[in-house]
Amino acid sequence: MSKLHKALLTASVALLGLNGCGGADLPEAETASTRQGVEVATAIPLPIPACSLLPDTDGDAVCDAVETLLGTNPNNPDTDGDRLNDYAESFGFGGGLDLTALGANARRKDIFIEADYYPNQQPTQAMLNRVINAFANAPVTNPDGSTGITLHIVVDQQIAAADADQDLNPVWTDFDVIKGKYFAALRAPYFHYMLFANRYAGGNSSGISRGIPAHDFVVTLGFIAATELQLAGTVMHELGHNIGLRHGGNDDSNYKPNYLSIMNYEYQFYGFGIGGLNNVLDYSRVRVAAFNEASVNEASAFAPVAPTTEADLAKISGLRFNNAQVVGNASVNLDFNANGSIQAASYALDFNRSGAANNVFPASQHDWLALAYDGGGQIGFATPGITQDLGREELFLVAPEKMEPCLTVDAR
Ligand SMILES: [Zn+2]
Repeated sequence: MSKLHKALLTASVALLGLNGCGGADLPEAETASTRQGVEVATAIPLPIPACSLLPDTDGDAVCDAVETLLGTNPNNPDTDGDRLNDYAESFGFGGGLDLTALGANARRKDIFIEADYYPNQQPTQAMLNRVINAFANAPVTNPDGSTGITLHIVVDQQIAAADADQDLNPVWTDFDVIKGKYFAALRAPYFHYMLFANRYAGGNSSGISRGIPAHDFVVTLGFIAATELQLAGTVMHELGHNIGLRHGGNDDSNYKPNYLSIMNYEYQFYGFGIGGLNNVLDYSRVRVAAFNEASVNEASAFAPVAPTTEADLAKISGLRFNNAQVVGNASVNLDFNANGSIQAASYALDFNRSGAANNVFPASQHDWLALAYDGGGQIGFATPGITQDLGREELFLVAPEKMEPCLTVDAR
């Protein structure tokens, strides 16, 4: 056995006996999955042994010579910036998981999610594809020259009826009981965990993220007959919180008229018109100039902020204000008050349900370029065989423990 293999085996055994989070204690229950042993036994890796004797500048256990062959960056353990290190994405060994077999690519951004579901709530592939396609179409560039993000949603298993708590309350306490039993802890450094459940905290919220950014989220639409679009919009919205987005993009201000994102409640259940299709899910791919509620002008409407152009705005339709969809696209006149005509004179209108039409909303952010891939600090730490940790990137100052109760739906 090579030195590298011994190191990997030792480290993986250590991982089994300890928590899986590089020092940040996970709930005790997360070490209890009976599937871990099997996964580790089949996952002792067989990379290129000689590589362990050669220079490895970035310390990611892929030596420089092999990085050159792979086209990865020998000076960066995470060439594509998705928090999954080059070793795990290239050789499939990530804490006992074969990420390569699941389609990971060290030169293109990947996000992995394990999905479990309550009885009668198994997600359909068509629903999941709405979200997967949104990420595939993301205006994000990759080292391999492609654009988009590969979203891997691994639909894993049904929660037994006896475990399917109909009201997760307190939500994360009850959630952890399920996660501890159904989520393989060895996936924790690489996967978000998504649960399709019934309800939480006795309310009618569509879902909740365990912080911003975070590792876990719940879609709680089991208490109504949710449509495919409502489910998909909620998955994308809660996942958005998991990867760092707030209801106002970079702030908590909801219903900002100039923030064209599924994170804005106005769009969670509707999406946008893009490329001739309706109800397309998307995070904001444009920046719209500051907008003043006290002086709304339907003729001048929105202005782009560079590098966004009028042509970019013209591609987005299906705009919604105060729960009404208006005709036209983001580049032209907009009937903000949905009265059927474009008014020449400016007027005041309350968009964000504050009770007064006096808010000025700052220029909106481009969501796709602001994503945080680290799962709130739980995704992307050093793995067995890896000597260099991936330090957490703070894209913006947020309180990671903040929990976001999300859009409430009418259960009646
Ligand atoms: Zn939300």
